[in-house]
Amino acid sequence: MDWYISVSFGELTLKGQNRKTFEDRAIKKVLNSVKDFEIQDHYRDQGKLYIKAAREDFDDMMVAIKKVFGIIYISPCLRVEKSVEGMQEGLIEFIKDKNITENTTFKIEVNRVDKSFRPKSPELNPKLGGTVLKNFGNYFKVDVHAPKMKIFIDIKKHAYIYSDRVKGWGGLPIGSSGRGLLLLSGGIDSPVAGFLLAKRGVEVSALHFHSYPFTSDRGFEKVKELAKELSNYTGKITMYSINLLPIQKEIGEKCREREMTILSRRFMMRIGEELSKRYEYDALITGESLGQVASQTIEGVSVINHAVEMPILRPLIAMDKTEIIEIAREIGTYETSILPFEDCCTVFLPKRPVTKPRLRDIEQSESNLDVEKLVQEAIDKMEVYEIEED
Ligand code: ATP
Ligand code: MG
Repeated sequence: MDWYISVSFGELTLKGQNRKTFEDRAIKKVLNSVKDFEIQDHYRDQGKLYIKAAREDFDDMMVAIKKVFGIIYISPCLRVEKSVEGMQEGLIEFIKDKNITENTTFKIEVNRVDKSFRPKSPELNPKLGGTVLKNFGNYFKVDVHAPKMKIFIDIKKHAYIYSDRVKGWGGLPIGSSGRGLLLLSGGIDSPVAGFLLAKRGVEVSALHFHSYPFTSDRGFEKVKELAKELSNYTGKITMYSINLLPIQKEIGEKCREREMTILSRRFMMRIGEELSKRYEYDALITGESLGQVASQTIEGVSVINHAVEMPILRPLIAMDKTEIIEIAREIGTYETSILPFEDCCTVFLPKRPVTKPRLRDIEQSESNLDVEKLVQEAIDKMEVYEIEED
């Protein structure tokens, strides 16, 4: 008998070729996530992927596999000989591995996927339960209604014993849903927005705006660190870095102070759209959430949308800050996000920003600017970084 990690994939609603592409892609990502470990064997058996490796590597491997989108469950399992005796021996080995030293209750659930296997479950269950009681009866009692430990046995091409299941993120493997350009600030929200769309299969690149020398190198390092943390889930991230200062100065000179935020946002989107044309992104992504700050009103969002033709995806639009923070903590970006460095937008934050901008007024203000030239000049001085996961 041998230990394996089993991986179950989600999106059961997908059918036919879609499902096959989805699984092939997810399997490739899973195997890539554990490439630093010695994999002795891997194969598929009835929808699950089984990976054989050293038992002591399992915890670290499972942490790595958990970051792959498209997975619902991961569990260590013992592959045993497909016979009653094989399963009985396996159960003893499996329970020993758990090192149980306190009273507990259990239930065995056999899933006879291979319908040709004999004996059938009603006959098999008592035999297997009996083995557990005979060998571990001083700690284990049967409880079929609310057992502390469910021991699953799947009978497929081989037979597998497992009990603990670690939950994966679900979602779709990266690359199934096109390419998105994430407007990445140093805040809490945008990394979460990028994460959520990556989870739905979007391949994510990042676009960051700074206002050097008003914003600092350390502020920039912080954003790179956030991109790195995100890349643990998305894989390598291309990050475009652009100095927004010349545009902000121009707005400051020629437009109303209260419109600074909304006007800079429209420039950010235009620059994002221009890069999308060059490098083939299908959508822009932001961390905007309704009502959070002055520019994030329905009117504000709508005026921002009008700056470009391409879609702007806002996965956080209906989320509360507490919900966003919860995800940020879970994915490991929160601690970096709260480091105190100024953002390009806080440098030029108006005292009383417009909360209900009208497109007419905003366009009128922009008529004082050479929009196209400002966008081009900003892009000409752009820097590009490739951010790799650890
Ligand atoms: P975050 O926590 O993501 O910074 P926020 O609550 O601070 O968001 P804003 O600063 O108003 O909100 O920004 C709204 C969205 O605009 C951000 O989520 C991000 O997608 C984009 N954005 C803001 N500032 C920048 C920046 N300096 N570079 C790139 N994108 C930015
Ligand atoms: Mg911000």
